[in-house]
Amino acid sequence: MARDEAYRDRSVLIHGKFRSEKWDFQDHILPPITTAVAFRLRSATRGAEGFKQFANPDVDRDTAKPIYIYDRLDEPCVGLLEETLAFAEKGECAVCFGTGMGAIAAAIGIHVRSGDHMVYHPAIYGCTYSHIVNWLSRFGVASTPVRFNCLDDVVEAVRPETRVLYFESPSNPTMELVDLEAVAGLVRQLNADRPEDRRIYTVIDNTFASPYAQRPLTHGIDFVVHSLTKHVSGFGATMGGAIVGPRRFETDLLLYRKDFGGSMTPDAAWHILTYGIPTLAMRIEHQQKTALRVAEFLDLHPKVSRVHYPGLDSFPQKALALRQMRDIDGDFSPGAMIFFEVVGKADECYRAAVQVCDHLAANALSVTLAVSLGQIRTLVEHPASMTHSAIPPDEQLKAGISPGGIRLSIGLEDERDILRDLESALESI
Ligand SMILES: *Cc1c(COP(=O)(O)O)cnc(C)c1O
Repeated sequence: MARDEAYRDRSVLIHGKFRSEKWDFQDHILPPITTAVAFRLRSATRGAEGFKQFANPDVDRDTAKPIYIYDRLDEPCVGLLEETLAFAEKGECAVCFGTGMGAIAAAIGIHVRSGDHMVYHPAIYGCTYSHIVNWLSRFGVASTPVRFNCLDDVVEAVRPETRVLYFESPSNPTMELVDLEAVAGLVRQLNADRPEDRRIYTVIDNTFASPYAQRPLTHGIDFVVHSLTKHVSGFGATMGGAIVGPRRFETDLLLYRKDFGGSMTPDAAWHILTYGIPTLAMRIEHQQKTALRVAEFLDLHPKVSRVHYPGLDSFPQKALALRQMRDIDGDFSPGAMIFFEVVGKADECYRAAVQVCDHLAANALSVTLAVSLGQIRTLVEHPASMTHSAIPPDEQLKAGISPGGIRLSIGLEDERDILRDLESALESI
């Protein structure tokens, strides 16, 4: 432990924790991996001990020698990734899932039961919205959408049975930021006269920023969730999700994962540990340099009415971005995601945005029409008709998801090629 703390984050992200109890691999440079789903138990006593140890709040997962039983419960490669993610997000513990949605379902699921209520920011990932509105409602969990930028509205929406405040920052796709410290402060106040079992917890989806560009737990947020599928995995080849938060919830998270079955495979964990995390800092650093150039180009373009990128001086929440979007060295880190709107009235700009996407799909090498984000390839998509189509059009408008909005995830291509491809697509409208 002490040994890790002497090193810079950048180095620890490449090497992992200096020494782990998760697996005896002193002689390996890379983490080893097995494909056996069950582990040999040397004796029935050891088997019984393993079941007693699993998700046991009295057992410290960082220091206890683990007894592995079955991959869905716990697994060394996944465990190593969890140690590294807890380090990256500056949290007490991390629990990984097979996908980001698996992690999001668990991060909400451990806090709510029938009759409870949650508040969510309306500009969120489409499937998260669908999970809350279409599924949690079936289990008797009510929800209210509220923009978190107006804390008075949040206070108004909170009820005695509210258990979770859920949001993204920057949010997908609008790039709207939420003031993390203001929300954390508000919840501290609201919790002051609530009993322990009626507390409200804050959950942020930090996928857009990545732990390189923002560590919300250090601003007082309770839980961070990630789609590791995106920036953390980085190459678009592996799915995964994670929750990072207080140690006292580790047991619930492990039990939830065991019983709902959203476990991550060792193979996914190995890829993320081997390729994704060690290159995270280098990738985002490069991508966000290009993202700033692209945002500046779009900002001046006559066919573009608005550009939402925290690195631009015209970004309405620039001061907040400067406060909370900081990389692992403390420098400003506005990230690699851009949302921009093409000119025109509602129907017109919807058609124009589709046209830009189609033109790119047909002609561009350096910009690929595809959902997902955070890859080494620049990706473009039209949220209104694609990733956010689960949100009804009027709700989309309320959430700031303009029909003419286009989302860009900047990759590692030569910036001149990205600019040229965008220029020619914009010329086509
Ligand atoms: C992709 C994404 C998710 C869902 O993650 P999966 O790994 O696809 O399940 C959740 N939140 C955000 C912000 C995302 O971009």
